[in-house]
Amino acid sequence: MADHPLLPRDPHRLPDPGQWFGPDAERHLLDRPRFCPMCGKALDRGLTSESWAGDERVFLTWCPHCSWTGNIVRFEHAVIDEPEH
Ligand SMILES: [Zn+2]
Repeated sequence: MADHPLLPRDPHRLPDPGQWFGPDAERHLLDRPRFCPMCGKALDRGLTSESWAGDERVFLTWCPHCSWTGNIVRFEHAVIDEPEH
């Protein structure tokens, strides 16, 4: 895809849609964590690397502001048991 000469370069370029990983790259850009779960600042300059474990999408995340590092897991449904009280 050619860049428009009057627009700045897209910092989140997607691969060619014909590539086998194109849809995964698109989902990653849409669903990746945007803010640190510890300090709340933007992760724009941090690291977010995605992997999969069954149906779960795991985002290994590093925050450049507070250095928090951990996994953020995205899933479709959560089943939570709450004890009676
Ligand atoms: Zn942080």
